[in-house]
Amino acid sequence: MPAQRPATPPSGTLFVGVPDMVRLVRRKGLPACIAGVAARIEADFLRWPEFDKSARVASHSADGVIELMPIADATRFAFKYVNGHPKNTRSGLPTVMAFGVLADVATGAPRLLAELTLTTAIRTAATSAVAARRLARPDSRRMALIGNGAQSEFQAMAFRDLVGIRELRLFDTDPAASAKLAANLRGQGLDVRVCASTADAVRGADIVTTVTADKALATIVTPAMVEPGMHFNAVGGDCPGKTELHRAVLEGADVFVEFEPQSRVEGDIQQLPADFPVTELWRVLAGHAPGRRDARQVTVFDSVGFALEDYSALCWLAETAAALGLGEHVDLVPQATDPKNLFGLLHGAPVAVAA
Ligand code: NAD
Repeated sequence: MPAQRPATPPSGTLFVGVPDMVRLVRRKGLPACIAGVAARIEADFLRWPEFDKSARVASHSADGVIELMPIADATRFAFKYVNGHPKNTRSGLPTVMAFGVLADVATGAPRLLAELTLTTAIRTAATSAVAARRLARPDSRRMALIGNGAQSEFQAMAFRDLVGIRELRLFDTDPAASAKLAANLRGQGLDVRVCASTADAVRGADIVTTVTADKALATIVTPAMVEPGMHFNAVGGDCPGKTELHRAVLEGADVFVEFEPQSRVEGDIQQLPADFPVTELWRVLAGHAPGRRDARQVTVFDSVGFALEDYSALCWLAETAAALGLGEHVDLVPQATDPKNLFGLLHGAPVAVAA
């Protein structure tokens, strides 16, 4: 006899895969998505002490890393699975792929299972812009964008809409990546120019975003490139043995990080002694520490990506998908009407209908 599905809906899990995420972004528009996630990140960073935080757990291999990023407050738990494999693009896979879960703390029930590859690009760009609003000069108009891969369009649009960038200077060691980025940004109200080198792109820029992928202690930015008043948004150096800024660039700047215990291991500051002074971004947002103090100060946001940004993005995604009727409910965990009769599920016991 087929299992009956009782009318009372118990707790289900909403699944938002890549196709539904694409539908969601198309319906809302990417600028609204970036702005929505940025607002959520800023609000959650102001609740910093309420979160149970830990550095992510990383499994390193020769060509990459696979990481788990957990975080919780009193009501919700989130985690993200994410990899970083810079050679992947040569075999047709993205460098970064991710998915994540949002669960109820009170019961442990998973409420949302979602793609987080597109979402990571949105939340990373949103976080960079939230930081730059406090750390870059308010009159910043020109940004150098070094590394023109999967994250780059999202960075460009976040800085256009949330920071006021109007000119972009691009460089990538792969000219096809820069050509792709320039083509994707056509008609977006940005003056875009492809440059011959990092030094060319950085010259005269107000903000320098580095979002390269190479499992190496790279020095994309050298001290000779630094001009007074610049803000560096260093996104690509995000695990041990993977950096973008020459250590003297960091030594000559005020450095801001997400979660210090994680950034000491993964950020560009891994090159510096453990007592090199850094400021956590939440302290600036909360008014506990100054951000930019004057027009000649050089600032660095040494971004590695922190679990709270994914928590914010997952909460935003759950609400937005529900409001738009996107995603499908799946039985990720058993929905038995008698929770003690798990065995009975195998023999046709009634299953509940997911909410
Ligand atoms: P991607 O592979 O799609 O693009 C990276 C680009 O960097 C490629 O086009 C490559 O040619 C270019 N590149 C490599 N070395 C370079 C160099 N020396 N100079 C100029 N360009 C160079 O990767 P992606 O998804 O865009 O990610 C970029 C980086 O950002 C990765 O290292 C990733 O781990 C990191 N990331 C960080 C965060 C965060 O929160 N901080 C989030 C997502 C991704």
